[in-house]
Amino acid sequence: MCHSLLQDPAFFRFLSRIDAELAAEARRGRCPHCAGPLHVADYPRKPRGCPAAVRAEYAWRLSFTCGRCETRTTPASVRFLGRRVYVALALMLASPPRGFTARAVCDRLAVSARTLARWRTWWRQALPATPFWRKARGRFLPPVASDDLPEGLWARFGGPTCAERMAQILVFFSPLGSSAMGA
Ligand SMILES: [Zn+2]
Repeated sequence: MCHSLLQDPAFFRFLSRIDAELAAEARRGRCPHCAGPLHVADYPRKPRGCPAAVRAEYAWRLSFTCGRCETRTTPASVRFLGRRVYVALALMLASPPRGFTARAVCDRLAVSARTLARWRTWWRQALPATPFWRKARGRFLPPVASDDLPEGLWARFGGPTCAERMAQILVFFSPLGSSAMGA
């Protein structure tokens, strides 16, 4: 189920373009505190889980600081889930799809079983406690149970291809790491 996207630089670049649009939109909104102008203040990240071809562009998180009060504004992102080191796409694909073992998923994603276990804890315990999820979960009827994350989300988003469905899910999660959500 869609694991090939992890080896697809074109999909990663597509996500970068979405992030650039989200950043442009945030910048037009000006500083949420004093309505001052926002200046580019991207900060470095050490991305994991992305193809080597896009590592340089994934090494920066788009962000701004206010020219008047210096408050940082970090826009939504489809590339990163909050402060998680691995790219959002890797975390989305973290749970074993039907017919796969956890070991097969570790091999495909090149992560350790321990990392995979940490991701599950994040999905099922840390994420449900965030203001983002408490607000966003209401969109799903019937609700998506915490124990069913992230795979329970798959059926809730449409799209003829893996790439389209995944892009929609990543857009849904994009506010998670924004300063508007307290990150
Ligand atoms: Zn300001």
